[in-house]
Amino acid sequence: MGELYQQAILAHNRAPLNRGTLHPATHSATGANPICGDTVTVTLRVVDDAIEAIRFDGEGCAISRASASMMTEAVRGLTGAEIESLYAQLDRLIRAKPVDDVASLGELSVLEGLRAFPTRIRCATLPWKALLAALDNTSDPVTTE
Ligand code: ZN
Repeated sequence: MGELYQQAILAHNRAPLNRGTLHPATHSATGANPICGDTVTVTLRVVDDAIEAIRFDGEGCAISRASASMMTEAVRGLTGAEIESLYAQLDRLIRAKPVDDVASLGELSVLEGLRAFPTRIRCATLPWKALLAALDNTSDPVTTE
């Protein structure tokens, strides 16, 4: 599991998917993880309650960038409720709590490797917090703290 985790982080960090800013977008939010210095901005377009397109941008460590890249692939076509449930499962997996259906997480399941690096969990959850805030249309700054 550790090796799969390392490979996925390296691959997504080297060639992040869906990088940039989406125009036009229906939702956007920026999140910050002051512990590591990561910032992630997500822009997305929601059509008929589902994410039609999503991009991310920002500055940060390899884990925040790789997690954002994986997230943009995982959430396309999902509704806000489906994304909340997916993130709840992912958060449980990372924190070593029982998960109903690991297979439903797809590639995200490699983030189980974060159990060995608990101080980096915020780096991985930051893009998800930014996405949930964007879907919530919140104007408050998003932080992992
Ligand atoms: Zn980080």
